[in-house]
Amino acid sequence: MISTRQLTYQYPGGPSLRFDDIDVAQGGVLLLRGVSGSGKSTWLALAAGLLSPGAGDITVAGQSLKALSKVAGDAWRARTIGFLPQKLHLSAALTVHANLAIAQWAAGQPQNDARIREALAALGVQELSARKPAQLSGGQAQRVALARAVLLQPKVILADEPTASLDDDAARQAVELLQTTALHQGATLVIATHDARVAANLDNQIGFQTLSIGRSLL
Ligand code: ADP
Ligand code: MG
Repeated sequence: MISTRQLTYQYPGGPSLRFDDIDVAQGGVLLLRGVSGSGKSTWLALAAGLLSPGAGDITVAGQSLKALSKVAGDAWRARTIGFLPQKLHLSAALTVHANLAIAQWAAGQPQNDARIREALAALGVQELSARKPAQLSGGQAQRVALARAVLLQPKVILADEPTASLDDDAARQAVELLQTTALHQGATLVIATHDARVAANLDNQIGFQTLSIGRSLL
């Protein structure tokens, strides 16, 4: 679950952002909408504990992020958050399998090849495990990045503009894939996007909510 109360953030020399309160139940889906520059990526960084709010409270998966120290925050994030960044950040020098292995390593976990194979299989890309990122299509690379995001079975999946630069078919597939993956994991899913195709493709029978982000001065 995710709850925010009177959350604000200001970049040094940047705009003052204020976010409406939201409560998302565990397993729920939240669509973060807003034009470019409205603060969607900032909201995701706050929810991941990568930024500390100027004011207000945010609780994610039962943890008040205020109470997290820098060091404890890294371990908490690795266990709790699966992040699908806008730029996928797959390591070009490494195979698909090794890209997932370093995610386990970065989380302080022993390498678990069986779990890597399972995560790749769940996204339908197990046969690509020996390839390098340059040998993947855009859609395949996104599946690999999503397999990496859910590798440690996070309670929360945060996706930043997952349909950017995808054609309509691929955009629909990406939204479906995110939603089925989150459902399969029982994870809370947050999709930040300015792309109207995401709302059009989300299955609202699973009960989702929308948070519209507008840049607001304090
Ligand atoms: P969105 O993801 O909705 O496009 P962002 O959260 O990236 O919006 O940015 C919100 C606002 O904060 C924008 O006006 C952006 O220019 C500004 N901003 C983002 N990152 C920084 C930064 N590191 N320093 C200063 N301003 C920033
Ligand atoms: Mg953004």
